[in-house]
Amino acid sequence: MILYTLHNNGYIDFSEKVKLFPKEKFNMYVNFTNRCNCNCTFCLRHLKNDHKLWLKDGEPSLEEIKQAFLNAPMENVADIVICGFGEPTMRLDDLVKLLTFIHQTYPKFKVRMNTNGLSDLEYGKKTAMLFKGLLNTISISLNESTSEKYLEVTRSRFGIKSYKAMLDFAVDCKNYIPNVVVTIVDIIGEDEINACKKVCEEYSLNLRIRRYEAN
Ligand code: SF4
Repeated sequence: MILYTLHNNGYIDFSEKVKLFPKEKFNMYVNFTNRCNCNCTFCLRHLKNDHKLWLKDGEPSLEEIKQAFLNAPMENVADIVICGFGEPTMRLDDLVKLLTFIHQTYPKFKVRMNTNGLSDLEYGKKTAMLFKGLLNTISISLNESTSEKYLEVTRSRFGIKSYKAMLDFAVDCKNYIPNVVVTIVDIIGEDEINACKKVCEEYSLNLRIRRYEAN
């Protein structure tokens, strides 16, 4: 499922015209890679083939993703959310081309991307500027308050330097993207939430505390 929305705790495939409630609008999620440079303890990718968002036929090509957009019921779309059932920046070139296509074809839609914020490490260069003018919001997973705790949870392939690199990326994003938020889930405990708030103050980042959802 490349394009989908969530409804009544289930997924609705938006990669084709679906008959929906004509006046209702839904966020449309874009799922175009299952790869990631982390291996988070809580990641739903561990379910693989048992999950509806696992791309059983492999990653769709850029052309296939564009076609899915052209087939989608855009009249039912509120915001576009690039998320992947994986890390979208694993396909950085295609991601930027896709965002450019969305910007040119659907200029009125707001576009958000959810990311682990490790693209600078993945590509060995600054990457935030690639999103200039293409994203309204970037949502970056902060997860924890220290490098050690972050690594324990994310099991990032880049090791202990990952946390600082993610924070530096988030700060850099503020130069190019109007709304930058970092996120944690509400089940990490009050002390850890307060410690994350301190990190965000130090880096002048907006923190969003998300409700934990197991699926
Ligand atoms: S960063 Fe996201 S996609 Fe990657 S392992 Fe963690 S939860 Fe899964």
